[in-house]
Amino acid sequence: MSRTILLNKRPVGRPELSDFKFVTEEKPTITTGEVLLRTSYVSVDPYLRGRMSDAKSYAAPFELNKPMSSGIIAEVMESNNSNFKVGDYVSGMLEWKEFQKSTGEGLKVVDTTAVGQSVYLGALGMTGMTAYLGLTEIGKPKKGETIIISGAAGAVGSIVGQIGKILGCRVVGIAGTDEKVNMLKTEFGFDDAINYNTTDNMAEAIATACPDGVDIYFDNVGGAISDAVLFNINKFSRMIICGAIAVYNNTEPAKGVSVQPFLVKNSALMQGFILGNYAAKFPEATQQLATWFKEGKIKATETVVEGFDSIPQAFIGLFDGKNKGKMVVKI
Ligand code: NDP
Repeated sequence: MSRTILLNKRPVGRPELSDFKFVTEEKPTITTGEVLLRTSYVSVDPYLRGRMSDAKSYAAPFELNKPMSSGIIAEVMESNNSNFKVGDYVSGMLEWKEFQKSTGEGLKVVDTTAVGQSVYLGALGMTGMTAYLGLTEIGKPKKGETIIISGAAGAVGSIVGQIGKILGCRVVGIAGTDEKVNMLKTEFGFDDAINYNTTDNMAEAIATACPDGVDIYFDNVGGAISDAVLFNINKFSRMIICGAIAVYNNTEPAKGVSVQPFLVKNSALMQGFILGNYAAKFPEATQQLATWFKEGKIKATETVVEGFDSIPQAFIGLFDGKNKGKMVVKI
């Protein structure tokens, strides 16, 4: 038998465990050209919150009573497809199922001999590419510039900061606990970091941490933190709007400062980033990240939650900052 997690209902506000439903089905049997996969690691990501709603977005909504899906690493258990052999590990967008079959479309065999499987869901996967391409394509960092990153201790943010240091920038992170702030400075080499939960005046704290102002803002959270950054941007600064987890669960449109005067006054650029728009650059990004990873210049910190039953809770935990680095579930 094999368990599957379905979208039971669309969340209103913060996602809850009752938004998900577990069902048990027969393990699938494969036919010509197919492979049988056993899930080994599941990526849980803030953007899945958007797909649980039916509002128009860049990715299609999940359907009610249909399986949830995300980036997954799975082991090939049976194969009728010459591209995959039994024992291979593959990565792909797959359903939240213990076992599933696939034609192999969209699956990539990953080399797990030197690199842990889950790293392909984080630093060497979607989140690593988001960090690299968002920063280089929109941020265009130059040596000596100051980069500030919100959600800095998370999957994307922690990689952005490390790349910023490799490229010779001053890097400042914003995160939700003192433990994360310390991790950014001691493990990831950030020049400074701010705990937004214990700081009353974020605009002032950013000014102190960025004495030469902000040249690049890599925004993972939106909301009040991003408003505070605006007061510190430099002329010709670039803002990469990658995510807005602080407002994903809002039931009313968020209110904030008007961005236009800040942009005009500073000739600044603010651009939304969607990884899928940069597919042509994926090989370059993957290769560069793999090289830095091999050279020890990028660390892939993870929070690993165990068990298929824990997937919904691990996902919800993202909204409570339960993760340091990439949140993954080991099955
Ligand atoms: P993270 O690993 O950063 O996990 C989410 C983190 O967000 C938490 O750990 C928490 O850290 C922080 N957070 C949660 N709620 C709030 C809040 N109300 N205010 C401020 N911070 C909060 O996730 P990812 O790295 O996977 O994703 C980061 C962002 O990038 C997300 O917004 C995601 O949607 C987006 N994204 C966009 C992509 C694209 O193509 N546009 C691709 C991938 C990700 P803390 O303890 O510091 O609060």
